Amino acid sequence: MVTGLGAFRPELLYVVAFGPGFGESIAVRAPPGRWLLVDSLRIDTTVPAATLLDAEKAAITGLVLTHPHEDHAAGVDELLRSAISGFLGCAGVFVRAPDRWTNSPDAEKQLEFGSVEAALAAICDHWERNPSSKWDLLAGTHRSLGDARVTALYPDAEAVAAQPSDPNRLATPLLVEWKNLRIVLGADLPRAGWTEVTRSVSGLQNHSCLKVAHHGSSGALHPNLLNGSGSRVWLVTPWSRGAGLPRLEDGEGVEKLLEHVDELHLTSLPGSRPRATCANMTRQQALRAQGARKLADDVLGRRSTDLAQGPGAWVVAGFDGDGGLIDLRHGSSAVILREGRSRSASRSRRTPNAGKVGPGGSSASPSHRRR
Ligand SMILES: [Zn+2]
Repeated sequence: MVTGLGAFRPELLYVVAFGPGFGESIAVRAPPGRWLLVDSLRIDTTVPAATLLDAEKAAITGLVLTHPHEDHAAGVDELLRSAISGFLGCAGVFVRAPDRWTNSPDAEKQLEFGSVEAALAAICDHWERNPSSKWDLLAGTHRSLGDARVTALYPDAEAVAAQPSDPNRLATPLLVEWKNLRIVLGADLPRAGWTEVTRSVSGLQNHSCLKVAHHGSSGALHPNLLNGSGSRVWLVTPWSRGAGLPRLEDGEGVEKLLEHVDELHLTSLPGSRPRATCANMTRQQALRAQGARKLADDVLGRRSTDLAQGPGAWVVAGFDGDGGLIDLRHGSSAVILREGRSRSASRSRRTPNAGKVGPGGSSASPSHRRR
């Protein structure tokens, strides 16, 4: 289940990020009421994007799988059981290569990749039955989403021909444009890919909202995308496997991101437990909270990957046609991260109130209590 997202104002363009700790799913609602779903995840047995559209009594206009990794593909097959009035996007190289689908004798791997193969098979099937819906996500190609335009930023033909072994290397970031609003959804594209993207598309740093690439990992940060206004709304979805992403330690992804913006909006902290209210904390506070939780997990023999922190792991951001942030809401597991006092001097050049909820917007009322 996903709970408490609230109402969507018809005149705004919304970005909804879900991220329960392992995986991400992004929904974009563009006027007049058209919905794009980008990637999918499951929380237990539910698919948040499907729950959202059910609640909105809305149909899917477009669906995009940015790359075939489990943390982005789980539940795509379920979403495809609903009708799609517009496009279905996936880089054709992934769908055309069943020989690269899992053939591992390792049962755990089979289980893990099962959701990816189910997603690719469903896309393949949908394209066959609805050829006009097919969107092979080559850089520069675009589709309409109501009054907005969605452009694939990567991969180009050269990148596809290089046949990299890591699907992240061919992941597709999207540029969503509506009037004067620009939103970049970064997928999991690593830095080398951004070098190529920003070589062919200039000015990408001039956006109102960014879904930070690859769960905020430092290896996906690129100055051509990041250098810019400190008031841009940056959404980060966590990844709780292994050491987890984003990393909070000095010199890692979160610190580097906070050199460019005043705050980050995480759908949840990697590996965190469900909370009653959205937390507003500094990076050091989050690091301490994470350390305390890991210690407790070790004592109790819990694994962070076992956690289901789903229902409140979301952030909703609504923008007007001039790129202004009008409506910003956080689920109870979401976290607003700031660098803290030591960095305030370096960020004082930025407008302190830019990027906050504007008049008429509903407030997240995050907790300011120390944890
Ligand atoms: Zn990912």
